[in-house]
Amino acid sequence: MSDLNNVKIGNVKVTVLEDGYLNLPKEVLKNISPELEKTLTDNAESDLVLSNINTFLVEQNDQKLLVDAGCRDIFGPTCGFLPKQLEKAGTKPEEITDLFFTHLHPDHVGGAINEDGNPVFVNASVKIPEKEIDFWNKDNFQDIDINGKGFADLAKSLLKAYDGKIIPISNEDEIIKNVHTVDLPGHTPGHSGFRIDDSNESFINLGDILHVPNIQLENPNISLLFDVDMEQGLKTRKMLFDMVSTDKLMCSGGHMLAPKFGFIEKFGTGYKFSE
Ligand SMILES: [Zn+2]
Repeated sequence: MSDLNNVKIGNVKVTVLEDGYLNLPKEVLKNISPELEKTLTDNAESDLVLSNINTFLVEQNDQKLLVDAGCRDIFGPTCGFLPKQLEKAGTKPEEITDLFFTHLHPDHVGGAINEDGNPVFVNASVKIPEKEIDFWNKDNFQDIDINGKGFADLAKSLLKAYDGKIIPISNEDEIIKNVHTVDLPGHTPGHSGFRIDDSNESFINLGDILHVPNIQLENPNISLLFDVDMEQGLKTRKMLFDMVSTDKLMCSGGHMLAPKFGFIEKFGTGYKFSE
């Protein structure tokens, strides 16, 4: 577990709170070369498939916004450390004034509700992309592991737990002052990042446009099975990599490893990420 990692964008302080890590099975990767397939078969525990689960504490004046909430114990003992990380950051769950969910996948919402379905962040007002609410509220999910009924049921539990406190939002809407949503379609229909602009400084959170940085930066054509619309997800990833590298925009994301904050630059036929 890395130590707290934060930056200041103007007067806005952003701290990454790492909920944990997962070594993803190679079977979730799509469009990989036979060479990479062999490397991953020979080294199942390789760091190549390492993915961190990140949440972000955004502090400004007396507001404390938490973006995403990790996955509690849903994916085993390597995750669920958000409560400890919050404590390290000197913040109690009841002090969170605002919550924003980039999307409603289990690794982003699990930590916001207790096992009994009650909210963890009892005083927070909650902003969620409207398209995301509409998508997961449907009843036609198949009984499959990824993007199926299980995922939808958890998303519905979250919506129920925070009923009455949820404000649906759209692209470029304000989450809190100086912090706006960024539409990142493909991973899920409402999937969004966020952007902070204050005092001529900027930062963008790329959400889940990449899950395994050690593979997808070098080759952005590699997608993951978690994408609801893989083709759109690929377009979004390429567009955003191009945009942040051209604009030299500081970024992070829901699954970035160390460093958490840095810059994506063109490198060979792909990209690299560095401080
Ligand atoms: Zn995720």
